[in-house]
Parts: sequence; C-alpha cells; structure tokens
Amino acid sequence: MNALDLSTLHPRLPSPLHEAEDERFTRHGVRLLLKRDDLIHPDLPGNKWRKLAPNLQAATGRPLLTFGGAYSNHLRATAAAGRLLGFGTIGVVRGDELAARPLNPSLSQCAADGMTLHFVDRSTYRAKDDPRVLQSILRAVGRGGVEDVYVVPEGGSNALAAQGCTALGHELREAADVVAIACGTGGTLAGLAAGLGQGQRAIGFPVLKGGFLGDAIRALQREAFGGPAGDWSLDERFHFGGYARTTPELDAFAEDFEARHHLAVERLYVAKALYGLTALAAGGAFPPGTTVVAVITGQSDSSR
Ligand SMILES: *Cc1c(COP(=O)(O)O)cnc(C)c1O
Repeated sequence: MNALDLSTLHPRLPSPLHEAEDERFTRHGVRLLLKRDDLIHPDLPGNKWRKLAPNLQAATGRPLLTFGGAYSNHLRATAAAGRLLGFGTIGVVRGDELAARPLNPSLSQCAADGMTLHFVDRSTYRAKDDPRVLQSILRAVGRGGVEDVYVVPEGGSNALAAQGCTALGHELREAADVVAIACGTGGTLAGLAAGLGQGQRAIGFPVLKGGFLGDAIRALQREAFGGPAGDWSLDERFHFGGYARTTPELDAFAEDFEARHHLAVERLYVAKALYGLTALAAGGAFPPGTTVVAVITGQSDSSR
C-alpha cells in the first residue's frame, strides 16, 4: 500500500497567526495572538489534523479503530478522514444505552461518513486498553485480530500524535513567549511543548476535572521523545466542573470574546483556555512586553 497523500486534502499549514486587540491584555503591556489551528481543515480541524495525520500514514490502509464519548471531536474527525481518504473506520463509543436511542448529531455525522459504531458499557470502555477486552471488541465488530486494524487510543493521543503536534511548536518559534492551549488527553500539549524553542513555555488548561493529566503527559513524552521535553505547566483551575460543563460566567465570557474578536468560540475546550488565559493576564501573571499566543484548537459547531 502506498503512503497516503494527505496533501490532496489541502490542509492550511502553517495555520494562520494573527494579532488580537484586547484591552484586558494590552492594559498590562501584553500582546495577544491567536493561532488559528481551527482553520487547518474544515472536517479535520485543529489538533485533530496534527494528531491524526501521522497515524493515518502508519495505518497503511488498514481500517482505523478508535474510541470516544458520544460527542467526541476525535471520532468525528476520524470518520471524516475515512470518508475523504477512502478507508474504513470503527468507532467504539462509551455508553451502551446510546445504541438504543436515535443517534445524536455528532454520532449521526460519524455514521454518515461511513464509520461503524460499536457501543460498549462504561466498565468495558474503562477496560479498553486490556488486550483481552480489545480482542472481544474486535470480534464483535467482525475483525479477527489486532493485525487487521490500526488502533488509535481515545482522543487520538499516542506517541505519533504527540510527534505530529511538535509542528505546532515549530510554527510558533520566535513568535511567542507563552503559548496557551486547552487540554483533553494532553497529547497536543505534549507535542507543542516539545516543538517550542528555548525560552518559550506552554500552559495547558485541562477541561476535565481530576488532576491526572500531568502524569499522562509525562508518560506520552517518554514514549514520543524518550523523556521530558520542553517547558510546560498545567493550570487546573478552569475546568468549570468538568468535561462539557459550563457556567453562566463562562458562557458570558465566550459570547463577549466572540463579539470582540469576530471568532466563533468552541465551547468544550477553547472557551475554557481563553477564559483561563484572560484571567491570568488580567491578574498580572505576565510581565509587560510578553507575547502570548492562544491556540484555537477547534471549531465551534455553529461555524461548521
Ligand atoms: C480534542 C480537542 C482538544 C484536546 O486535545 P488533547 O490532545 O486531547 O489534549 C482541544 N481542543 C479541541 C477543540 C479539541 O477538539
């Protein structure tokens, strides 16, 4: 099987970087730039492109099997890639009760893109990294063994994905002192930090509650780069109750940011990172003369 030619999808790389005029930053002598990874590709936006691209190469035409929740952006991007590039995709979805309901819009889109959906109960989902559990999932979807499919972990974060995200850091060399990014599994931050240059640092804003992410990122960096890479930290204060949770304050912030910057703000991840970064700047966390970059990792549904 020949290597996939991803250039046929015309990704917009390097992604655009532009200045945003925002008095909550300028008041402190801080410049704010927006890194528009959401514009890389309409169906594989943001970090999903950067993480999937090296895995699609490694899959060498085998169907891709991966995992996600009912609203997973990663599942949707994987399904779209399968449709655009002509390979099979299997999505293992957390929550067997979902199978009995009409599919939500996100999963409907996956199905329309040709993804085979397989629903598992929550305890099976938690055990998905156990080879025996994976084997039984493969049997259930009619695949003999792990050699017949290419397995990508939940959220798309493996060593190749982290390596793919180093390009984001490279694109920001010389352009920033501090780079802010929302984190789900942390794969994007792991690669971004590794790709930045001397004197630059990355701050990750986890959107999930739990405090487990630091270890996960260190493990990914070991796997991808052989050890710790780059200067990064996590600010765990801005999850707003956890994944897909929000508050009136966060909603109001996101609406205001949209109005100020004419940008549809994705709510699961991007809104929380922008809120956290703005709160840090407003609290004087960055010395005057600092340039901060906010990575817009994905698109708002309303802009799709
Ligand atoms: C998936 C996603 C993330 C999280 O990326 P991780 O590599 O899992 O940390 C951030 N932002 C958006 C918009 C996403 O879709």
